[in-house]
Amino acid sequence: MKKGKKIGFFLASVFTISLLLALAWFVAAIFEGDPPTVKLEPLPEYISSAQNFRVTIKDKGRGLKSLVVTVEQTGRKVTLLEKRFPFKGLLNRQGLREQTIEFVLDPGALNLGQGRADVKVFARDYSRRNGGDGNLGLVEHKLVVDTIPPALRPVSRMNYVTVGGTGLLVYMASSDTRKSGIYVGELFFPGYRAGPSYPEDAHVCYFTIPYNLRRGYQLFLWAEDRAGNTSKVGFYYRVKRKRFRKERINITDTFLEKVLPYFSDYLQGHQGSDIEKFLWINRNLRKKNAQTFRELGQKSTNQQLWEGRWLRLKNAATMAHFGDQRLYYYKGRKVDQQVHLGVDLASLAHSKVPAANHGTVIFAGPLGIYGITVVLDHGQGLASVYSHLSQAMVEVGQEVKKGQVIGITGQTGLAGGDHLHFGVMVNGIFVNPIEWWDPHWIRDNVTRKLKLLASQ
Ligand SMILES: [Zn+2]
Repeated sequence: MKKGKKIGFFLASVFTISLLLALAWFVAAIFEGDPPTVKLEPLPEYISSAQNFRVTIKDKGRGLKSLVVTVEQTGRKVTLLEKRFPFKGLLNRQGLREQTIEFVLDPGALNLGQGRADVKVFARDYSRRNGGDGNLGLVEHKLVVDTIPPALRPVSRMNYVTVGGTGLLVYMASSDTRKSGIYVGELFFPGYRAGPSYPEDAHVCYFTIPYNLRRGYQLFLWAEDRAGNTSKVGFYYRVKRKRFRKERINITDTFLEKVLPYFSDYLQGHQGSDIEKFLWINRNLRKKNAQTFRELGQKSTNQQLWEGRWLRLKNAATMAHFGDQRLYYYKGRKVDQQVHLGVDLASLAHSKVPAANHGTVIFAGPLGIYGITVVLDHGQGLASVYSHLSQAMVEVGQEVKKGQVIGITGQTGLAGGDHLHFGVMVNGIFVNPIEWWDPHWIRDNVTRKLKLLASQ
């Protein structure tokens, strides 16, 4: 009897303790304190128009109960999204573990004003905490509503540009402008802040009408602000046509024997006759080099580094012009056609090459058909190129003064004799250098416009 009582008491105790533990477990589970996690994407600093957002909420405990997204601006509150999630399952009675929902914030449709707005995401779970409201997961994101496009105003009224030459537009762009410039067809030429001695909104943009641009292109000034609003305005310009020369070049076996050894590294594994090798160099390597120049020319500093007219190699004869159509003949047959994108200047062999203007060295070394080449950045998209050198006397990163000797002429690369191939680039596109040697052209097309800009 005593024994039985003891057992009974023991069993009752175990039962009670188990019950208490189960109750404690149940209470702990339904009153769990783990709030849902909330992830909002993206997190833009500014919005200019309808923006899609994605919100991902997760809960480890009793599961997700509700999701509310609001936007608040100067005391006004708008609910963008309100969702309630049901319990799932018959026995475990649990809410969703994870949910991803997209929503749109359209400042126009919501009548939001310009300036700060706060997006808030509230996610609650099925915990019985907080008087039954559940645990709260909250994400707040502050952003700025900006739906006003940047203000753009061309300042220079007469903008002449010769096909293949350089054009300059000076303009004012409001201070929230992040990127601006000129579109010539599909080509974009970035504009730059004019500099510390000009009003803050003053900008310059050098551009060109490439010699090979098809007719029917459009020219316009474009800007984008920090929020992504864009503006587009036309401006007055006049394009002067230009006829380019045709030049017949006879490729002889003597010439091939002379130039091909220079390219032995480039031609490794290349089968074929000498003329085939030459054509590969003249076409494929030329194209690859053009891409290198394009990339180099886009690495330009914001400040104007150059000053006054640009220098030309002293006592040199012009051997070839910018834009010459070169027709290549081999044994009386036309085998290729290319355009010459610089000016060839011949002086005494091994002449000292002066920097055309103040600048920074952005390239110095061998560059395919151009041989040993130096490229100087003059700022705001302008650069000068010196090719076929026997020697470069500067290093990348070095600052050079106008007239400083940067190299020695030679005949490296695809050159028949000692000469300097001189090029000028606008944002990596070759333009006719002769304008930059002409002080009158600079006065009429650059200096006068910069003066207009200074007085804005
Ligand atoms: Zn040349």
